[in-house]
Amino acid sequence: MVKKAQKIIVAGGAGYIGSHVVVELLGAGRDVLIIDNFSNSHPEAINRITKLAPGNVELLERDLINPAHKNDIISAVKDFDADSAIHLAGLKAVGESVAEPVRYYETNIGSALTLLSALEAADANTIVFSSSATVYGELNQNPVDETGLTGATNPYGRTKLFIEDILKDLCASAPKWKAINLRYFNPVGAHPSGQIGEDPNGVPNNLFPFIAQVAVGRREKLSIFGDDYDTRDGTGVRDYIHVVDLARGHLAALDYLFAREENGAIDVNLGTGAGVSVLEAVAAFKRASNKDIPYQIAPRRDGDVAEIYADARLANELFNWRADKTIEDMCADHWRWQSNNPNGYKD
Ligand code: UDP
Repeated sequence: MVKKAQKIIVAGGAGYIGSHVVVELLGAGRDVLIIDNFSNSHPEAINRITKLAPGNVELLERDLINPAHKNDIISAVKDFDADSAIHLAGLKAVGESVAEPVRYYETNIGSALTLLSALEAADANTIVFSSSATVYGELNQNPVDETGLTGATNPYGRTKLFIEDILKDLCASAPKWKAINLRYFNPVGAHPSGQIGEDPNGVPNNLFPFIAQVAVGRREKLSIFGDDYDTRDGTGVRDYIHVVDLARGHLAALDYLFAREENGAIDVNLGTGAGVSVLEAVAAFKRASNKDIPYQIAPRRDGDVAEIYADARLANELFNWRADKTIEDMCADHWRWQSNNPNGYKD
């Protein structure tokens, strides 16, 4: 029988992607210890997770960068008898990272380091890290594969690259360590139940939550950042991936890594392999929600590239994963979540 990870730490397990990952893990019969400080997530997400996926899930409400919490975290990971971890805890707003770089470096890198100390102490040496396609520089040809040139353009992206490198150094230091850096393209959508989904604090930075808040009447209109790019309709093209496909990708990556004999750190894209423009996304969301999405064309946003989408073949080759859900599924599920929970978890 293939050895499987059974006792999994999910750092950031109450967040948007983390909550969907936990539901997949519980559905597959795995035991989960969530570590979260609810800095950008809500305790209600945990209640919803337990309703969607009965199973063994525990919560440790601690802050990975608070020195006073470190011993508790180390003991809890040991007591849980963890065999692996999925690390999704961190700050993720690009603009905020430009304004507050020190907080971003401290939080994102600090939380990874604390988690690694706890894993070391528990002798759990398999880790899947939530990286991002933002690590790719601007000079790559589409579709971008994992050998694409890296070169983040903001502190947020640099924290992702640093943590990828930390994991590579760690794996090179001792053969027991194994890591996968999952480079996500653009996660959108929600669990088909409409019970968990993305609940951004304040004004959404990303396209889908913004569109969804316009559709539900929380915001007047969308600003489309540029319609003069060299793309099929002039607007930016991205590889949107359904968060449930993404969550399944974490389980597939973890199982592959856990059973793998070789040590080392591997970078793997998670995307669909296809690009969708902003105007196409707006049209799809309009169809799914049956709501008007008023928009205006605004200047380009600093740091945006015209077009990026994944070469997603490596995830398929290594762990037989591919994204199944369409842009229609993404919009329908995102809308179900938003319309059931107009104010997110605060309702
Ligand atoms: N975008 C937009 N209006 C918004 C938010 C995003 O036109 O309010 C565009 C953005 O310029 C990009 C695409 O939507 O072309 C996806 O942006 P998002 O911030 O969701 O993801 P990322 O830039 O990280 O790929």
